[in-house]
Amino acid sequence: MAEIIDGKAISAQIRNEIAAQTGEFKEKYGFVPGLAVIIVGNDPASCVYVRNKKRACDEVGFYSESYELPEETTQEELNSLIDRLNADEKIHGILVQLPLPKALNESEILLRINPNKDVDAFHPYNVGKIMIGNYSFLPCTPAGVMALLERSGIDVAGKRCVVIGRSNIVGKPMAMLLLHSNGTVTVCHSKTENIKEICREADILVASVGKAGFVTADMVKPGAVVIDVGINRNADGKLCGDVDFNQVEPIASYITPVPGGVGPMTITMLMKNTLTSAMLKATDNQS
Ligand code: NAP
Repeated sequence: MAEIIDGKAISAQIRNEIAAQTGEFKEKYGFVPGLAVIIVGNDPASCVYVRNKKRACDEVGFYSESYELPEETTQEELNSLIDRLNADEKIHGILVQLPLPKALNESEILLRINPNKDVDAFHPYNVGKIMIGNYSFLPCTPAGVMALLERSGIDVAGKRCVVIGRSNIVGKPMAMLLLHSNGTVTVCHSKTENIKEICREADILVASVGKAGFVTADMVKPGAVVIDVGINRNADGKLCGDVDFNQVEPIASYITPVPGGVGPMTITMLMKNTLTSAMLKATDNQS
């Protein structure tokens, strides 16, 4: 039976640490970290994420602003909001909730955010810094996975790591962080041949596919650490991950549940990045 990695508990622990650091930061510098969250349109899932981000800011003592813009918002309007927030001294992190409506150019928007305030770490400048292992911010979900491993006492060095998925948001940066921690990393995707065999070699298996029940018991080496990034709905509409939990849990050594595994860590890492950004600003240490 696997040990369940409790993302909720670890996340709460890290948020308490961030709240304490925010208190000390305020004492020392006389201001608090500030995060601006922008959402365009009214996708229900995105609205929930934005609300949760605002709540997390309140919890750790940050200043926050949220902008709920209509679906018809133009590129120029969004650009000028970003420009204003880039110049705003109270704001240390700017997050644009993705996906944006089709009429808007996502990469232009991401490029427009000042890299020093890019707490999602999606700006090509920050992506490049992650590649060379010299970064201020890490993308929140992969950073959350690394924090879960670290706080569960799982050492990545020398381990065979397999990441399923190669998106810019999860799979690719995940592979890079595991590599920076001295894992030996393989990335699988929809064109990978013999995926089951490759996954079965993993000491640490990270699933970020977006398909319910994708990882079955025959893809997991006994004793492997299994991290489930997926957020899906099963046939009954219930939230579930990419891993068939009931099949895999008896053979893994550690496993993250869905919900309550990687999910809660993502917003926590966003808080951490915003605090880091404010610290870099306060110490005039921005790149
Ligand atoms: P994505 O952009 O759709 O990427 C999915 C990846 O899975 C792609 O690289 C794709 O390969 C690969 N894939 C799809 N079918 C496959 C198959 N049959 N065999 C092997 N690989 C396959 O998704 P994402 O944004 O990375 O997100 C992945 C999952 O994580 C989703 O469920 C998402 O909701 C969840 N997520 C969770 C959090 C969190 O906070 N926990 C945050 C972000 C995302 P190709 O590149 O070849 O198409």
